Amino acid sequence: MEVSLRNQVAIITGASSGIGTGIAKSIASAGAKVIINHSSEKSKDEAQKVLEEIKKNGGDGMVYQCDVSKETEVVKMFADVVSEYGTVDILINNAGIQKDAKFIDMTVEEWDTLMGVNLRGQFLCSREAIKEFLRRGIDTTRSVACGKIIHISSVHEIIPWAGHANYAASKGAIKMLMQTLAQEYGADKIRVNSICPGAIQTPINKEAWETPEAMNDLMKLIPYNRIGQPEDVGNLAVFLASDLTDYISGTSIFIDGGMTSLESFSNGG
Ligand code: NAP
Repeated sequence: MEVSLRNQVAIITGASSGIGTGIAKSIASAGAKVIINHSSEKSKDEAQKVLEEIKKNGGDGMVYQCDVSKETEVVKMFADVVSEYGTVDILINNAGIQKDAKFIDMTVEEWDTLMGVNLRGQFLCSREAIKEFLRRGIDTTRSVACGKIIHISSVHEIIPWAGHANYAASKGAIKMLMQTLAQEYGADKIRVNSICPGAIQTPINKEAWETPEAMNDLMKLIPYNRIGQPEDVGNLAVFLASDLTDYISGTSIFIDGGMTSLESFSNGG
């Protein structure tokens, strides 16, 4: 059984770091051209390094700087990618941030900035991707589906998270966005799913793993007793983008070492 994404083009948002980097490497090694998106000047070199490593391993793609919360930038990114590679087959909506605060202290800026990236960004990229999928139509030399969207959500689409109300609300909303798109565009053979990671070792959650004490506390939440790595999510993204999963649409897949089995109840609660 071969998992191949050959002849396909994938945009991975927020791919200069963490989970996005892991996904970009996995998708490239399955044969797709990858667009390594990032938003800030300071992550330009990191994004370039990801592309260089991919090329060294026989893959191909490009780096693209674009803030996914800005409509004009997202529209231009899709137009530029289509002009460079002809079309887009796979969108991985991964870019996301945290702006943590106790709820009564949370500012409108903290709420809006987070929603701009985590939710509006996923809306804008999905809209432009679906327009392009529909324009191209099905091409079975690429995939039996017309296009694939994978939203990177979180275990916090179902686990409430005190001190992170904006983040948890954005991930809960992604679930309904994903399911609605799967419903609205299923007949067009566009597959839409979410990946919901638990704790994956990246800069976003450094305080949860950078000291032995923090790591020890974290392990109390993970029955499988290890922190996840970006390539764990990358492997799943390849599978979910491939034709092997052509009958999977409108669902959330959790990748969390058992975190959602709520280990705190393992001794009777
Ligand atoms: P990360 O290491 O902090 O990486 C975030 C990436 O998003 C960076 O490449 C960053 O690039 C990019 N980004 C931020 N704002 C952007 C914007 N406006 N436009 C485009 N790109 C932007 O985070 P991560 O842990 O890999 O998280 C990736 C996704 O997984 C997020 O959606 C997060 O919610 C989700 N997730 C993570 C975990 C975990 O345990 N790590 C668990 C569940 C879900 P710039 O710096 O250039 O903006």
